[in-house]
Amino acid sequence: MNFLTLFKSKLLLKKAFLWILSKFGVLAFLHYKNRHKICVLMLHGVMEKQTANTWNPLRSQISPNELKRTLKILSGYYRFINIDQAVDILTGQMPLIDNAMLITFDDGYRNNIDYALPICEQFGIKPVLFVVTGHIDSGLPFWFDRFDYALQQNMGEWLSLQYEHETYLFDATSRGALQKSYKVFRDDCKRKFTDDIKMNQLFNGLSEMLEQQSGKALSDICADDDWSAIASWSQLQKAVTQGRMDVASHTVDHFRLGNLSAPQMLSQIKQSKIRIEEKMAVKCQYFCYPNGNYNKSAISLLKSNGFKAAFSTDVGLCQSKDDLMTLKRFSFPLDKSESELLYLLNR
Ligand SMILES: [Zn+2]
Repeated sequence: MNFLTLFKSKLLLKKAFLWILSKFGVLAFLHYKNRHKICVLMLHGVMEKQTANTWNPLRSQISPNELKRTLKILSGYYRFINIDQAVDILTGQMPLIDNAMLITFDDGYRNNIDYALPICEQFGIKPVLFVVTGHIDSGLPFWFDRFDYALQQNMGEWLSLQYEHETYLFDATSRGALQKSYKVFRDDCKRKFTDDIKMNQLFNGLSEMLEQQSGKALSDICADDDWSAIASWSQLQKAVTQGRMDVASHTVDHFRLGNLSAPQMLSQIKQSKIRIEEKMAVKCQYFCYPNGNYNKSAISLLKSNGFKAAFSTDVGLCQSKDDLMTLKRFSFPLDKSESELLYLLNR
């Protein structure tokens, strides 16, 4: 049996399995059983995958059409709530809402406001944006987007880059190969580095070399780039004042908290809160851990600095007995059918 036949039969088997679960009411039962739990979904950028005048990031992204299609299905099964309601329900300050769902966006991309928010509104959704205050202030793209763009401006051959006595190789002979190369490198770095500041220096150092080779840098086009542009304070203020969304903290620099010293951690937590409260004139009480990375010190610093709840990337539903400082989420499911969605979010 070749790979394609095996893949097709696996898909068929999965379809048949879900059909049986759906036909015999198992999915509906699971959904009913979980009705008192809150389902929190996590998104990042939302943009058209192919547009004429732009680049196309190597990380998987979600298109506005796909967001709309999935939200339409979910709206038949869930009631959308905002972040205050979610936390009030979990702390017992508000009565339960059956099958409640909260939509969260990480990193604060401008495309969240331009493309995702109008779609959210069609379904009565008030999402929360977890923003990285240092990037809003500088207007500069994230290091991972900068490197992604820099790599893609040097397509066509293997790339060999020397940085601090080490050689880094990237297969840029095709988009697929580069996608794989980039992912392996990024995952390796996340594992290898215990210091995020040093890791960022490596990414920025490599980006700089690639930018010199191609003569193109993301920072030159970022302000007009729907993929990588960060929402400005005034865009965030406007949307929050209009009651269309909430804003909460995702640190100052998007460093993994567990990799920082206590003073660095405190600064990331405290300064992001101060900046949001100063610029938005709202209380900043909620937090989201970059890369889902947290530890006991981070949790205790968040509590002592007035944060009421924090979201991780641990997978699952939230319920009242959960620790409010490590709330679970699901990645926004992509290209899924109705039964696949119900199965994924309820199993
Ligand atoms: Zn993030």
